[in-house]
Amino acid sequence: MKNYINGTWTASESGRTFPNINPADNRDVIAEFPLSSSADVSSAVQAASTAFQSWKLTPAPKRGDILRRAGDIFTRRKDELADVMTREMGKTLTETKGDIQEAIDTAYYAATETRRLFGYTAPSEMHNKMNLSFRMPIGVCGIITAWNFPIAVPSWKILPALAAGNTVVFKPSDDSPHSANIFAEILEEAGLPAGVFNVIHGDAEAGAELVEHPDVRVVGFTGSTQTGTAIAARCAQLNKKVSLEMGGKNAQIVMNDADLDLAIDGVLWGAFGTTGQRCTATSRLILHEDIHDLVVDRLIALSQKLVLGDGRKSGTQVGPVINQRQLDKIMSYIEIGKQQTTCVAGGYRDTDGDKQHGYFIAPTIFTGVTSEHTTFREEIFGPVLSVSKVSSFEQAITLANDCAYGLSSSLYTKDVNRAFAAIRDIEAGITYINAPTIGAEAHMPFGGIKGTGNGHREGGWTVFDIFTEWKTVYVDYSGHLQRAQIDNY
Ligand code: NAD
Repeated sequence: MKNYINGTWTASESGRTFPNINPADNRDVIAEFPLSSSADVSSAVQAASTAFQSWKLTPAPKRGDILRRAGDIFTRRKDELADVMTREMGKTLTETKGDIQEAIDTAYYAATETRRLFGYTAPSEMHNKMNLSFRMPIGVCGIITAWNFPIAVPSWKILPALAAGNTVVFKPSDDSPHSANIFAEILEEAGLPAGVFNVIHGDAEAGAELVEHPDVRVVGFTGSTQTGTAIAARCAQLNKKVSLEMGGKNAQIVMNDADLDLAIDGVLWGAFGTTGQRCTATSRLILHEDIHDLVVDRLIALSQKLVLGDGRKSGTQVGPVINQRQLDKIMSYIEIGKQQTTCVAGGYRDTDGDKQHGYFIAPTIFTGVTSEHTTFREEIFGPVLSVSKVSSFEQAITLANDCAYGLSSSLYTKDVNRAFAAIRDIEAGITYINAPTIGAEAHMPFGGIKGTGNGHREGGWTVFDIFTEWKTVYVDYSGHLQRAQIDNY
């Protein structure tokens, strides 16, 4: 498979490739993809720079028409693309279809925004003068993403960036390159002109080259806090705009008045859906002491019934983790967890039958976890849930906030006063009440605080703050020189 540069499928100038491997069965090498060099990155950025000159002048609603058609094509190709995505990154077909639905929603949302992209007007201090400010496209956007939402997360950045009149060079994760190529096919079929959207494959090196390129004016990044922080430091030196969506360590609080069936369903989906590999995954469960034992007992029983396997097989509920490196990392956290706390479910690699060829980890639960413990503090990014016990609502909030990250959070309670206090007091970009820590909607701001983000939000109209610059205009129709701060005062 190839890079997509200036509307053409292009082999890497480096001649080097990397394999795309099915994590459910590592004997299944899906295809080789280019390990792009700086020359490939330069070609793609050059194509995007040239295309920007005409794309920015294309009337925004016309750009929206193309995005709407892309939404239609994503819909038409949903089943096929879901199969490709599950094969290369493991989550179940139900989940990959949900991932694509997010892109469909974003395409239609971004298309409608092309008829708004609101600026504003304001009164002038002077007679016969008009003041207004409106959004301008910026130029070439370098988009770098993780593998866990191979279509949804790129769509949150790429589609609004295009809607606003920018062009894009996309460096997808090397664990989900095939989905990225289908993304390009869909935009091409929708009528996007050559060079407006480009894909370069590769690893950290290609990503770093993209950040570095002087014609890349905005960097949109989703990935680990470690990588994002390094990219932000470099962008600061280069005076580039950068938006960061990084790690999470999300807490779900369950109070003693909660609907426990609802809360337990929420934990199972939040902690073990997508094999715990969501930035918004529920990785900390904070239980009121009155209901702690009951909830833990039921979670143990239900988590042990979850069906692990190939996400493309019907009946599978939990797929593999992404690769050998991540498997090793998660297993090392599980070993630490066993030393520091009590493992009450899972805690092992599942190599039963065909699973011996994949990267499967049994849903794992630790109890007796406090804020001192490693599994409470560090992002594991796997099917591992740490359970802590508290005796009050205030203690629950304090514990939830004792965290380096601030992406998502959740509270289960029937007490409306506590619900509103939690909405105010939990330090996170997203708070769910009586719902799990996951489930973003395309038209709402998405992102986090602390170690999760740098003040930007994707989703909703807030994403246009990333991909546009304000142009302020003063139109003086008085016919004589007016000196605002001198003649008026
Ligand atoms: P990662 O940071 O290793 O890689 C992310 C992307 O950055 C990849 O495309 C990678 O090739 C590229 N990259 C790596 N080093 C780079 C460098 N020095 N310069 C430029 N690009 C570089 O993350 P990952 O393991 O792929 O993904 C998992 C992480 O992503 C988790 O921490 C998870 O929480 C986070 N994530 C966050 C969100 C969010 O919206 N907050 C969503 C999904 C995933």
